[in-house]
Order: sequence, then C-alpha cells, then structure tokens
Amino acid sequence: MTTDATVTPDHTDSNPAELRSYLRQADAGVLVAVLAQLTGDPAVVDRFADKISFEPDPPEQIGVTDDETREMLVEAVMVALDQPRPAGALPSDDPELFARIAPLALGTEVSAEYVGLLLEQGGFHPSQPVLPRTAELPTDFKVVIIGAGIAGMAAALECADAGIDYEIIDRNDEVGGTWYTAVYPGIGVDTPSAYYSLSRDINGGWSSYYPQGAEYQKYLESVATQNNLRDHTRFSTEVEALWWDEERRQWQIHAVGPDGTREVSYANAVIPAVGYLNRPRWPDLAGKESFAGVSIHSAEWDPDLDLRGKKVAIIGAGCTAVQIVDACVGDVEHLTVFQRQPHWVAPRKRLTDDVPESRRWLNTHIPFYANWNRLKSFWGTADNNYPVILRDPEWAADHLSISPANDVLLRMCLDYIDRVFGAGSELAKKVTPDFAPYGKRIIRDPGGYYAALAKPHVDVEASEPARVNERGIVTQDGRQIDLDVIIYATGYYLDFLSTVDIRGRDGVRLSEVWGDSPSAYRGGMVPGFPNMFISSAPNYSPGHGAGHNFGVEVMVHYVMECLQLMAQRGVPTIEVTPEAFESYVGEIDRAMADTVWCHTPTAHTYYRSGGGRIVTAFPFRLIDVWQSHRAPIEGDFILR
Ligand SMILES: Cc1cc2nc3c(=O)[nH]c(=O)nc-3n(C[C@H](O)[C@H](O)[C@H](O)COP(=O)(O)OP(=O)(O)OC[C@H]3O[C@@H](n4cnc5c(N)ncnc54)[C@H](O)[C@@H]3O)c2cc1C
Repeated sequence: MTTDATVTPDHTDSNPAELRSYLRQADAGVLVAVLAQLTGDPAVVDRFADKISFEPDPPEQIGVTDDETREMLVEAVMVALDQPRPAGALPSDDPELFARIAPLALGTEVSAEYVGLLLEQGGFHPSQPVLPRTAELPTDFKVVIIGAGIAGMAAALECADAGIDYEIIDRNDEVGGTWYTAVYPGIGVDTPSAYYSLSRDINGGWSSYYPQGAEYQKYLESVATQNNLRDHTRFSTEVEALWWDEERRQWQIHAVGPDGTREVSYANAVIPAVGYLNRPRWPDLAGKESFAGVSIHSAEWDPDLDLRGKKVAIIGAGCTAVQIVDACVGDVEHLTVFQRQPHWVAPRKRLTDDVPESRRWLNTHIPFYANWNRLKSFWGTADNNYPVILRDPEWAADHLSISPANDVLLRMCLDYIDRVFGAGSELAKKVTPDFAPYGKRIIRDPGGYYAALAKPHVDVEASEPARVNERGIVTQDGRQIDLDVIIYATGYYLDFLSTVDIRGRDGVRLSEVWGDSPSAYRGGMVPGFPNMFISSAPNYSPGHGAGHNFGVEVMVHYVMECLQLMAQRGVPTIEVTPEAFESYVGEIDRAMADTVWCHTPTAHTYYRSGGGRIVTAFPFRLIDVWQSHRAPIEGDFILR
C-alpha cells in the first residue's frame, strides 16, 4: 500500500550512471541486505558480511566498506534490480534470511525474539494474522471508529483489509487529528518520521528527520486519499455519547452533525480513537481575561497572528513552547519565557535535520531501502533505550539519575547546558531540572531553543506568572512586564474519554469506573463495556523508545484478532473478565513501580493522572508488548 508521498520504489526512470552514483552513496550494510532480499540468496551474506564495518552516527550505526567491495556490491545490486527474481529465491521477508541480514543493515546484534516485530515494523510484510481466518463475522457486522487521527486511520485500514464494514466519525472536517488542528509556529514531530508513521505506508521522501507539522499532515492526508478513508468518514460530527444497548447487543452512538442535528446510530463494535491530548488547558491565572493585547493558546493558533516586532511572553517550557520559541525568536522585539519547571533538553544530534538528497533518492528508488531506513531509525533507540527508564536502586540512592544508562543522558544534557549558558551561570541554574531525565517527556532541541534563551532580547522567568493585567504580566516578585501577546503553551487536559458519555452494561458510566485513575486491559478493554476497544487507552504509549504509532499498530492488530475470535466462536459479544482485567492492570502497575515515572515525584508530567497513577506510558519492553498482543487469551473473556 502506498501514498502519494510513498511511491513504490522504482529505479527505471534513472540512467545507469545516476543509479550507480546513488548506490555508491548508500549504507553498505543496508545494500547487502537489499541485495539479499532482491536475489533471495543467503549466500550474499557470506560473500559480503565480513567486509562491512560500522561507524557510529548516533543513535544509528552506518555500514561502511572498502572501495573494491563497494564497487562489487553496487554492480551486484544493479544486476539484481534488472533481473527477474531467480526461481527458488527465498521470499524477501523470509524470517531466517531476515535474521541473517538484520545485523548487517542495523549495525548491531539482533536477538531472535525481535525478528517478527522488525519484519512488521519495517513494513516488510503486514501484521501477520495469528488466529486462523476460517470463520467470518456476520455480513452486517459494523465497526464504528471515533476519531480520524493516526489511530483511527490505522484501525480503519485494518478493518478494510479484514473486509469488515466500518465508519469513522470525526468532529473535524479533515483527517489527521493533532496534525490537522495544531498549527502553531515551529510545530514539528519530535520522533523521527522515518519511524513515526504507519509501517504499512512508509514514506521514503520525508524532507527532514523531524518534519514540520504541515508535511506530517500531508502524509496522513495522502494515506486517507490512497485508501478512500474519507468515503467512510462522517466529518464535522461530534460523538457525545456511546451507550451499550443490551437488547440489540450493539452500541448506540449519539452524535451531533454539522448542522447541529442530533442522531443515534448503531454499531456492533466501537473503537474510540479520540486521542487524549485534544482539549487545550488554560492555566488558572488571575486577571487573564483583562489583558488588552492578544492572548492565544498554542493549540488554537491563529495563522494570521504576526509576532514581528512584538513584545511577547510564552507561558510553558514543554515541547510546544520549545518549538515556538525556536521558530519565533528572530521575529519578536522581546520574549519572556515563563517556565514553571525546566525539562531536560537533548541537543540536536546532527548539524541539520534535513534528510540528505541521496538518502531520499535511495529510499524512493531502491526496493527495501526505505524499510531499512525506517528500522534503523527505530532500532537506534527502541528497546536499546529501555534501561534509561528502569531504576537501579543502588545507583539511584546517591544520584539524581536513576541508573547508569539514565546518567549518560543526564550528562549529555548537562553538558549541553554548560556549553550554551556557561557552567554555573544563572541561566544554567534556571534551566537545570531537579529530577531524573525521562521523569517527564524529554525534549529534543529543534536546533535553536537553548541558543534563543541566551539571546539578549530573551528573558527566562523560572516561575509561573503571579497574575495577568491589562498591560501584561506581573511576576512572582512583583515586576510588571508590558506585552503585546501572551502565548499559552500550557498543554492539554489529559482526557481519557472524559468528554464522551460512555455507558456500558446496566448503564454503568466509564467515567465512574475510571474516576481519576483510568486503566484498561489489552486492546483498551474494560469489564462491563463489551465490544469496545479504546484505541486511545491508558498505558499504550511507549515511554522509552518508538512513537505513538507503535502502540496504535500493536493495538489494532490485537483488536482484529479479538474480532476474529468472535467470528470463530460465532458470538456477538466479547468482554474481558474482571479477573483478567485486574491481573493485567496489576502487572502494569507492578512493572511501573520500577520505572523513572514512579521515582520522580517532583516532575510535573501528563504521564501521571490526577489520581497519581502513571497512565500514558507502558512500563514494558516494546517486544514484550508486541508479543503479548499477538493473539487474545480466550480464557480472559466472556464470549456470548
Ligand atoms: C503537538 C503534539 C505533537 C506530538 N508529537 C508527537 C511525536 O513527535 N511523536 C509521538 O510519538 N507522539 C507525538 N504526539 C502524541 C501523539 O502521537 C499524537 O497526538 C497523535 O496525533 C495522536 O493520534 P491519535 O489518532 O491517537 O489522536 P488525535 O491525533 O488526537 O486524533 C483524535 C481525533 O479524534 C477526534 N475526536 C475527539 N473526540 C471526538 C468526539 N467526541 N467526536 C468525534 N471526534 C472526536 C479529534 O477531532 C481527532 O481528529 C504529539 C502530540 C501533540 C499534541
């Protein structure tokens, strides 16, 4: 499956000289893997493996070789590209072949348990069904997905593949969710997009390792176009309530359409994919309505707002504030950054985030190259980064960091602070956190954030404002700062479905079951709420490596397996038992107790709910999450 941006790699529009020249610039390890996949011949590995070595290009390893071997490799790939696949060739996604070539392409050992995950996450083949597809759901079975962000889109694509009738409902008038609505200056992804995207729609043409929001939104729109998702979507329609109808054994969907008309429709299963960061949070600041200038929240940005020559304050120091400061510092007359609590900020690793033209060419012209490019970007962190969030009690007893691995990150960030602000300087003190890295989401400097804070026309206030008045902001120590614009980069309410009235069996409300500590079994299932798979569920975001897309893809695979289980057993409902739910949530909470989030109580983080439970991240290795979501455990369900 491809998108406008993700053309199927095809070299036939290039001449041999051009092709040769690009292949010479390729990663030699990846080229060996590509050759093995093109020819389906494992002997390729024996021929080249010991001629490849690796140079670090953090977090990746780049495969290099000598000139002679490179020429041999290039010629072999050129031949393979123009020849039909030899008879008896191994399939390009053969697990044994893959296990041999992955270390060459990725530059590290790859343990056998990861092969299945990498084949799927690399997009070498789609998510592999586990339960036999020998039975079908009734033809009138319908799934309704609420939300057309990346999660809802992923669920829709899986339904389409499985031949299940589906409908998406979104209150926006276009797909994309976060990436459609958030348009503040400098908005960009902070997980490399080679990886932070759908494994079934790999885009080899990203212009940047961390593209701007508009480029990311274009990608999502092209996925929707290529797969006709809009034809299945009710736009500008807000779902107000989901009520389980026991008589029909269906969900009642109460929605308000574009003209304000309320209507009720039905679905056999629902997948709420509404995200959990949608509703802008304005701080409770005295006097904020009295400000005579422009007050704006980053999530409700007005693209016509011109900051040039203005006196601006920004409240917040999270990812959004960092991106806005980086983008606007050159325009404003004066900027005051109000930082309630500093974050750990990692320096940009490369001189520029632009993807080199040669890499984009290879991604879009050479089969499998973009897949490996995606996996390299994933593998460089992924579970290799897991030790960073795990607490080593002995180490943590007398360090701010929680483990030696966590300390490496702390040192890197401290070194960055010292380099930009000068060790021991006032600014250095202001921006240095007092909790371990990862206690709250680590921030990646888009390039010029720290440099911006050090500029003469920028002030950092290491506190929240005391109050707002007509002229501007009054600081905690009573200083008046006159302003033209106040930007509230104060984030979102952590809304785990709290804005939708969800009632399960016997009218029990999900908001009451959850209170301020939401939790869910695999697939976002909660006892008493049959046939509901909450895609934007608690504990589905990777906290140590990978992007939101990982949790989304793992979950939609699992949901399809659950629907298949219903088909196999010929039953209209599936519901997790209270025992299985309690046991799974207990497993999460026990594992969570050893992570950084439970040992940095001073860090203000949206990972923690009002009830104190860590609700966004999961505490497990990615491989454990992936494996435990391959297929449903039948004994955990009431199927009737
Ligand atoms: C500014 C920002 C940057 C981010 N950057 C990254 C990143 O770089 N890497 C990463 O891994 N994660 C990132 N995230 C987190 C996460 O990946 C994104 O928020 C992602 O877009 C979430 O996808 P989603 O489909 O789950 O939810 P959303 O994108 O929030 O989509 C939910 C959809 O549901 C619709 N909806 C909600 N309620 C209703 C309702 N009642 N009725 C009808 N429709 C409804 C909304 O209109 C929306 O279209 C970021 C989040 C934000 C806010």
